[in-house]
This record gives sequence, C-alpha cells and structure tokens, in this order.
Amino acid sequence: MKVLVLNCGSSTVKYKLFNMEEERVLASGLAERIGSPGSRIIHRPEGREEYILPKGLPGHHEAVEAILYIMTGPEYGVIKNAGEIEAVGHRVVHGGNYFSRSVVVNDKVLELLAECISLAPLHNPPNIIGIQACQKMMPDALQVAVFDTAFHQTMPESAFLYAVPYEMYEHHLVRKYGFHGISHQYVAGVSAGMLGVRLEDLRVITCHLGNGASLCAIRGGKSLDTTMGFTPLAGLIMGTRCGDIDPAIIQYMSEKGNMGLSEVMEVLNKKSGVLGISGISSDFRDVEKASQNGHHRSELALDMFSYSVSKAIASLIPAIGGLDALVFTAGIGENSPDIRRRICRRLEYMGIRLDEEKNLIRGEKIGISTPGSTVRVLVIPTDEERMIAGETWGMCTANPVS
Ligand code: ADP
Repeated sequence: MKVLVLNCGSSTVKYKLFNMEEERVLASGLAERIGSPGSRIIHRPEGREEYILPKGLPGHHEAVEAILYIMTGPEYGVIKNAGEIEAVGHRVVHGGNYFSRSVVVNDKVLELLAECISLAPLHNPPNIIGIQACQKMMPDALQVAVFDTAFHQTMPESAFLYAVPYEMYEHHLVRKYGFHGISHQYVAGVSAGMLGVRLEDLRVITCHLGNGASLCAIRGGKSLDTTMGFTPLAGLIMGTRCGDIDPAIIQYMSEKGNMGLSEVMEVLNKKSGVLGISGISSDFRDVEKASQNGHHRSELALDMFSYSVSKAIASLIPAIGGLDALVFTAGIGENSPDIRRRICRRLEYMGIRLDEEKNLIRGEKIGISTPGSTVRVLVIPTDEERMIAGETWGMCTANPVS
C-alpha cells in the first residue's frame, strides 16, 4: 500500500511517498518558491540521483499537480499512475478546539478547517488547498488530516487557559493550543521503546529544538503541557522568535519604535530570538562559530537560548509529577552537543548527568546520560512524515475505501 505525505507550507510543498508494507520511502522532495519567480521541484527518487525541475508554480494546486506528474513520469517516476496511491496524509497546522486526533477529510472537516484559518492565517489556507487539489487529482484516495495541535488537546484547563477574562476563551477561543505535536508524539513513542518501558508508565519532556522550538510534558503518552501557546510565537527563545515576553513590551515598542501593531509582531516573529540578540544569524551553526571566535552577542544568544530551555524544562515538571526521561530532537536538538551540554548543565542540581563522549554524537538515536543520571537523556531524530504516514495508514485500515 502506498501512502503520500504532503506538507503544504506558505511557499513550499514537501512530499514523501511511502510503501507501507515494505517500510520504504519511494520518493521524497520539495516544491519551493511557489508563487514567486524561480519556482522549482527538487525530486529524490529512491536509489537514484536528485532531479531538479525548474517549473512555473503559480499556486499550491499547480505544485501538487507537478509533483504527481514527476512521480508518475517515465524518467523519474516511482509509480505508474496516481491511482496507486491509496491514501494521502496531510500535515495540518491548526485544528483549533475541534480535532484531538487525525481525521478522514470530508466536507464537514474542510468547513471546520476553514474556521481555523483565523487561528493560523499563514498555514491553514495552503493546507486546505493541498487537500482540495488531492481530492480532485486522486478522487479514490482517502484524504487524512494529521494535526500539529491535536496531540496537545489532552492538556487540562489549568494548563491551556490564560488568565484573561474567561469570556475571551468562551467567545473567541483564546487559549493555549501548542504545536509540533506530531514530532513530540513520535519521539515520545520512540523513547519508550529505547528505554524498554511502556509509554503509559513514562514521564518525559520532549525538546523539539529547530527553527521553531517547543517542549512538551508527557505522562502516560498524553501531552499535559507545552511551551508554545495560542500561536507558535510563545514559549522558548527561538531562531527568529522572541518566545515569552512581558506583553506590555508590545505597546511600548510600538510607541518608541514608531511602528504599527503588525510591524511589532513582524519584529517579534522574524527579527528577534537568537537572530535579534546575536545580530549574526538565526542558524545555530553560524552563531556557534561566531561565539567560538569570541563574538560576545553570539555567546549571549546561545546562553539565553539554553537558559530559556532549561528554565522551561524545570517549569514543566509539576505538570507530570517528576521526570524519567528528557528527549532532544529536531535540527538543534539532534545536532548540537554544545546546546545539549549547556541545557543539561543547568539541570545538574536534579542529578542529570551527561556522558560527554556520547553527547558528541550528532543526528543519531542514542542515550547520552551516564548510568548514574537520575533522568535518562536521549537524542531521537524526529520523523514527522513517518508519523503522518503511520496515522494515515491506521485510518485506512479503520476506514477501508471500497
Ligand atoms: P525547522 O523548524 O525549520 O524544521 P530544523 O529542525 O530543520 O528546523 O532545524 C534547523 C536548525 O537546526 C538550523 O537553523 C540550525 O540552527 C540547526 N542545526 C542544524 N544542524 C546543526 C548543527 N550541526 N549544529 C548546530 N545547529 C544545527
């Protein structure tokens, strides 16, 4: 059975085609710069060289069409026709209060997704267009929506409400939603396997540290709190995002910087975080290098980032009543021994001890704590596409198409 996973971002469509029985990735790739000059598709068929196709892609619909064309073409194709794809798993960023698990898409689901647009104006519209394009081009395939927010729907009210007038929640759904749920859920599941315990018995904090960064406190396989909030701007300091700040700063920055509200929000989303402090880059590789060369503000940015993560880890422990394991994942979590060391050093008071040599390993599934550490520390490469494919496959077996 073949499952296509699609992740439609604001100007990109990432895809991966799985053969589920054989656990093989038949092809993966990316349509980029959609709607801009220079749009193209980078296609990686299994066992063959990467192929780059420059192609005018005015919108996401055309991008999905072009991806299917390449995947079924004589030269770089991996399947004979689109009918071989039995299901498509769509990553959907925001499911609002409506979705606490993956769903098979129907008209009602599309309606609810459209209602969530005001919560994720940049992300949900391309997600919806991607679903509609696939419905048109693969009418027999099951379309499944897998949400970044769904995993966090198990948070208790005390964790997801903000202390603003309750009516703002009742009438306008102002609450913490949380994001990166697909990744948090995936690595938590893998961590239980690595530790040889049941997920139901595990208290784990997963640290998804990439361009966007968030932590999730998980007990019994359920998210009980997370650091991102109403939007992905909240929580940790990130590559370009400020994370938690005093909300009064927004008005003050607007007045002092002579900026409108949307301009302030743009600064907090795109020009803050590690980029804003270092003045060098949002990419940790650049900032780490500059810090090693004695650049003070880069060192400060790394210190502030890792301090914000260790502080947040400690603050999440009450949500799960203790801590058995800490998991690092995503670009920085998987690849930066320096950041992992900085974070764990501030947690030594809890008895967390890193094995310095194992910590030097990058991008591999590995335990990096010493045998005496009170908390097991793991590095687990995330694989959101595999998680989406698995969810989609599960929905297929529960909802056979014919
Ligand atoms: P996204 O949120 O876009 O999916 P990723 O999970 O791919 O982000 O993480 C991207 C970030 O990972 C880069 O900005 C970079 O800072 C960091 N990164 C990747 N490789 C390394 C490395 N070897 N050392 C330090 N940081 C790294």
